[in-house]
Amino acid sequence: MITLPTKLQAVLARIADAEREYGRAAGDVQLLAVSKTWPAIAVAELAAAGQRAFGESYVQEGIEKIAELRALGLNWHFIGSLQANKTRLVAEGFDWVQSLDRLRIAERLSEQRPASLPPLSVCLQVNISGEATKGGVWPAELPALAHAVAALPRLRLRGLLALPAPGDDFLEQRRSFRRLRELSERLQADGLPLDTLSMGMSADLEAAIAEGATLVRVGTAIFGERNRA
Ligand SMILES: *Cc1c(COP(=O)(O)O)cnc(C)c1O
Repeated sequence: MITLPTKLQAVLARIADAEREYGRAAGDVQLLAVSKTWPAIAVAELAAAGQRAFGESYVQEGIEKIAELRALGLNWHFIGSLQANKTRLVAEGFDWVQSLDRLRIAERLSEQRPASLPPLSVCLQVNISGEATKGGVWPAELPALAHAVAALPRLRLRGLLALPAPGDDFLEQRRSFRRLRELSERLQADGLPLDTLSMGMSADLEAAIAEGATLVRVGTAIFGERNRA
């Protein structure tokens, strides 16, 4: 039985190796441990091993873990699809929303973010694979959405997220991630101070780091296979 802290160390070693391999500074790439479907006790075990940032895809499940583990002072990122009737729970409970793709949801989050908390950090999810079923703003609509979100008082626009179509080809993976980096560079040239490129998961984090990821979102390689998405 391989323990969670051992698997965490193995993923951190993969990140460090990729930073070296692709000329990134050591510590450039942050690990988000995607704990969706796994119990609070598993998160607590990883927190004890030093992991601070966790990602959740389902509002109710995430809010319950956040409440249970409040004393640990962890950072919680929402990475799932968000309906308008759940924005208040997310604005009150989470530190980040990485999956924002509609202005109406952004406006609600900004209105509902409690004054006692710092602004909610957000990333815009971009649909770079062209799959109509996937979430994310189309690249052509990204600049308008980014400028509108950046103007909301209780949100802080940090960067972009993408979920490319899965595939084993390393160069193909790099091409997808490069598209996201180029979109980010264009927004930065346009005056938006972005510091986050959220790309790369268990199967493709090396390609993402090669193309400039600052945050990789890893579930399976730490926790094991999930029974649901
Ligand atoms: C589930 C999920 C992940 C983690 O994927 P793994 O392949 O298990 O590492 C990353 N990002 C998002 C948006 C997810 O929904």
